[in-house]
Amino acid sequence: MAGGNAIRGTRVGAGPMGESERGESAPRRRVSYFCSNGHEVKPSFALEAEEPETWDCPRCGLPAGRDSQEPPAPPRNEPYKTHLAYVKERRSDTDGEAILEEALAKLRQQRGE
Ligand SMILES: [Zn+2]
Repeated sequence: MAGGNAIRGTRVGAGPMGESERGESAPRRRVSYFCSNGHEVKPSFALEAEEPETWDCPRCGLPAGRDSQEPPAPPRNEPYKTHLAYVKERRSDTDGEAILEEALAKLRQQRGE
């Protein structure tokens, strides 16, 4: 059939993005990671894949995180620091609990409980 041949012809000569026709058929997305040296890494992942929490910076080898404001600490001190760990460093535990209580109370008020 002439119609089938026409469609095939268009696909083969589809232009400069020919790579996507050949190997990678799965759509990919880029995710930005930031290391504590200020480098930005943009590895790409398959759409259905879940991106990891951290990514090793190819330039300096430090772990890079999703948050540009709070990149992961260098592994020399501690292998992994959560956001909560940062918060706890800045405030005493008691302060943190008080703030949490306050936030919860506000939330309850907003919900009218
Ligand atoms: Zn880096």
